[in-house]
Amino acid sequence: MQTQTSVADNAFVEAPPARNWIGGAWRDAAGGTIPVIDPRYGRAMSTVGMSDAADVDAAVEAARAAVGEWSDRPIRERAEVFYRLRELMTRDVEELARLASQENGKTLGEARASVLKGIECVEYGCSLPNLAAGAQLDVSRGVNCQMSFEPLGVVAGVTPFNFPVMVPLWMLPQAIVGGNAFVLKPSEVVPLSVQRLAVLFEEAGLPRGVFNVVNGGREAVEALCDHPGIEALAFVGSTAVAKLVYARGAASGKRMLCLGGAKNHLIVVPDADPELTAANVVDSFTGCAGQRCMAASVMVAVGEVDPIIDRVAAQARDIEVGASLGAIVSAAAVERINGYIDRAEEMGARILVDGRNPRAGADGYWVGPTIIDGATPDMPAACDEIFGPVLTILRVDTVDEAIELENRSPYGNASSVYTSSGDVARKVMNGVSAGMCGVNIGVPVPREPFGFGGWNDSKFGHGNITGWDGFRFWTEQRKVTSKWSAQRDQTWMS
Ligand code: NAD
Repeated sequence: MQTQTSVADNAFVEAPPARNWIGGAWRDAAGGTIPVIDPRYGRAMSTVGMSDAADVDAAVEAARAAVGEWSDRPIRERAEVFYRLRELMTRDVEELARLASQENGKTLGEARASVLKGIECVEYGCSLPNLAAGAQLDVSRGVNCQMSFEPLGVVAGVTPFNFPVMVPLWMLPQAIVGGNAFVLKPSEVVPLSVQRLAVLFEEAGLPRGVFNVVNGGREAVEALCDHPGIEALAFVGSTAVAKLVYARGAASGKRMLCLGGAKNHLIVVPDADPELTAANVVDSFTGCAGQRCMAASVMVAVGEVDPIIDRVAAQARDIEVGASLGAIVSAAAVERINGYIDRAEEMGARILVDGRNPRAGADGYWVGPTIIDGATPDMPAACDEIFGPVLTILRVDTVDEAIELENRSPYGNASSVYTSSGDVARKVMNGVSAGMCGVNIGVPVPREPFGFGGWNDSKFGHGNITGWDGFRFWTEQRKVTSKWSAQRDQTWMS
């Protein structure tokens, strides 16, 4: 179950404005500021600058000025900064967790877990000197070929609102240990944790200009996509934006990897362990108030699983909104989520657990756990990413039908099965069209060293964003073929 931490334990505080961090100096963005809202109170806790193309250009210039000296350092020296970052993040874990909770609305326990997961990503970066040796081979008589991983130069990342510390750290360790200089554009909804990260990088001894932050929204992202001085860009966010960013960045010749949204199916069969399954399904769809790309969204009930559904409903009703379930990011998101529930009801579904208008204090943005039963596959609640604590139940008779239903979704981030049969588990794992799959686990995040990445409309580009694929994404392979012997054979490659 989630950690019980009430909103009152982590009270409203104001924070200094979020500014751009360029070449080791704080600068104001050209496009003015917008408020940063603490969703638990619906009140502005700070402001964030909105950057334009000139701000992005200044960050790229600072990165360009720093990248030569940085990439000349041996990888072991570059990784040492991340050893120190790890210690500093561990020291400041509570502060980082509070900040992430305040600006995002998730519970303190969830925020703490996400910071710890960010630290795991840093640890992967620390391990890179032991992994990133290239290769060499005598490929012919007297001819040797060696391969090394080279930095790309200046690279960039764009991140979403739902994990203010962790998602930036999916990118930064591999990119920076790989010898690049980075320009990060965090979500304008949650810019404050990254301000703290910039300070920690400075304290860890990262040379100025190797890590830069430009705040803002669409204008800043488009400028990053178009900038000729950026070699590669990774994006994490919604599918609609991921598609646009992927196409725009690729059009200017960049290497692109864009992770999008999700509609994750959990397939439950009658032989599933009722206790384990119910607790797990509830955690999956209510954790982080359903605002995570790995959250359960559709439960595909195969045959007679009503005793499990009853348990899921009972546990969901017991959840105290504002204590073990955090806030929704904005008033608009609450409206969107409630709209999906209203529409499903209008179309004939039964709202088994109703989280509309929960009692969680007068202020802030809240939706309680909601279960929609008797839905049909064509209902928007069964097809679209809702991104709230809403579980839609679809009922089928066979495992084959369940797999077919999952395959119909254009997304492909995660999918899980709950069963005590190895045969059923194997069939589902081979049949679903998703990149991150689980057996008896509702949030099947492939933790380090395995790479994070979905399929289909949940990802545009090749490979995973974390793990070894992440390092490959942020580096280029150089092959050097040498012949020193006096041997005079004439071959096609002489
Ligand atoms: P979003 O797409 O609205 O925003 C993501 C980033 O894109 C932000 O930095 C934002 O400023 C920028 N942006 C927004 N509109 C833009 C536009 N028109 N052009 C260029 N840039 C634009 O996503 P969000 O609401 O911040 O995050 C939630 C979404 O992220 C969900 O769909 C969720 O599934 C997805 N997500 C996916 C993963 C994954 O690994 N696949 C992980 C986390 C979140």
